[in-house]
Amino acid sequence: MAILEKITKHKHLLFDLIIAILVVLIIILLDLFITSFSSNPAEEKNVQDKQAADSQINNRLVRIEPGQRAFLPILNFHHISQASVKADSITRSFFIEPEKFEAIVKSLIAEGYRSVFVSEAVDYLNKREMPTDKIMAITFDDGNEDFYTNAWPILQKYKVKSSVYIMTGVGGSKYLSKDQVVGLDKSGLVEIGSHTIFHPYLTKVSVDRQFKELKDSKEFLERLLNKPVAILCYPFGLYNKTIEAMAQEIGYKAALTFDKDAWQNPDNLYELKRISIYPSLDIIKFLHKIKNP
Ligand SMILES: [Zn+2]
Repeated sequence: MAILEKITKHKHLLFDLIIAILVVLIIILLDLFITSFSSNPAEEKNVQDKQAADSQINNRLVRIEPGQRAFLPILNFHHISQASVKADSITRSFFIEPEKFEAIVKSLIAEGYRSVFVSEAVDYLNKREMPTDKIMAITFDDGNEDFYTNAWPILQKYKVKSSVYIMTGVGGSKYLSKDQVVGLDKSGLVEIGSHTIFHPYLTKVSVDRQFKELKDSKEFLERLLNKPVAILCYPFGLYNKTIEAMAQEIGYKAALTFDKDAWQNPDNLYELKRISIYPSLDIIKFLHKIKNP
């Protein structure tokens, strides 16, 4: 009787074990089934490829030798919108229509350019090491509202990073709201920098005013975003040696001006050159020309 009981017990154990294995198998299969529906494998592969490519890029850096300059285009836009029919030719030069802007973004990507924030560009220059792929930075001045309505959807569509320079004392419906600025910063695709408080001709105002414009705007943005703000954009691109030294003393890592050039001097990060984009400029042709003079 006892032997029979033992055999029956063993049979029960074996049966339980088989059931347990089956349950585990079903759970694994269900998990695989759910995963295959919840993510797109092709998309996932693209992300992995991109991450692998990124890490390779980061591993390949070329030293900027003393006295050498680095080719690092920093493009500048003001308005992404259609200019008013009444606008004069100078005003028109600050307006790029959204379709044209999208075409510019697409052509830069097709040329193999990778977008970086200005602060990332500055880090490369600071370390005197440039990545071997083509990098560029896209900047927008004045924090115009049309950045949000017209440029931002295109930048998101192509996952292009940009740097936006805000005047902290100027507001109203034509400009980005504080909430929009915070949201853009949180997106991870936009870096916010200072464009002073009131956009004065810095070289024409007192040293006290210069100091206030540089320092207070930085502090305002740092409070708003709860993070350091490292880049200054000179209003009208105007600066002098006193303003450069002041920007450094206040804690800016770099500052931007205008120049039709993309060869950056790593020895002076307070005179970074930016190319103004106007409607008739063929930026790809222009970059080819200045890269290979
Ligand atoms: Zn400006």
